[in-house]
Amino acid sequence: SWSSSDSVISSDSAGDQTGPGNPYRVVLLGASGVGKTAFASIFAGGTFEHEQKNEVCEKTVEVDGEPATITLLDTWDAESSQQCNMQTGDAYLLLYSITDRPSFLRASELRITLRQFRPVHHTPIILVGNKCDLVRRREVSVSEGRACAAVFDCKFIETSAAMQHNVWEAFHGIVRQLRLRRDSKEA
Ligand code: GDP
Repeated sequence: SWSSSDSVISSDSAGDQTGPGNPYRVVLLGASGVGKTAFASIFAGGTFEHEQKNEVCEKTVEVDGEPATITLLDTWDAESSQQCNMQTGDAYLLLYSITDRPSFLRASELRITLRQFRPVHHTPIILVGNKCDLVRRREVSVSEGRACAAVFDCKFIETSAAMQHNVWEAFHGIVRQLRLRRDSKEA
């Protein structure tokens, strides 16, 4: 049920529908245990340890000197929830864990499913290889991740939510892609 999550929206920019940072709906997708909650927690400003179970969080961030408002949608791991969010997002962070090959395969499946919901060519998607701090447990190489992103026509980044490494870069990257799309529409 999504109505229950309305109460946890922490909005400091509600009503601002006209600015450059019209809320962008960014969806976290990925197998269970890849770090979606950890990403949402960092986004929400919580610490990694005190993970908040907020499903929706809205925040204004500055990217390249320009404010952008992101509404972050974390998904339950349930198939129905992922599909629900696939229909509503403006952009997607598709997570897997570099220590978990099945989660990498799951990311490919999700990408294919996403294509059915979002046939538009320029839907911004970033393939995110999380847990890159766990070097000894790595099962998916950087080049495999990069190659997969190339096949699926999306950007690629490796992150560590535990080390807070590259997490904001991923969010900023999504905003940049959304702006590119917006600018090319206006042109
Ligand atoms: P979710 O099921 O996708 O929401 O995954 P969680 O965010 O709940 O993370 C699953 C587990 O992986 C938790 O124990 C997290 O603490 C841990 N975790 C998440 N991200 C990282 C990371 O970047 N590095 C390490 N070492 N652990 C992580």
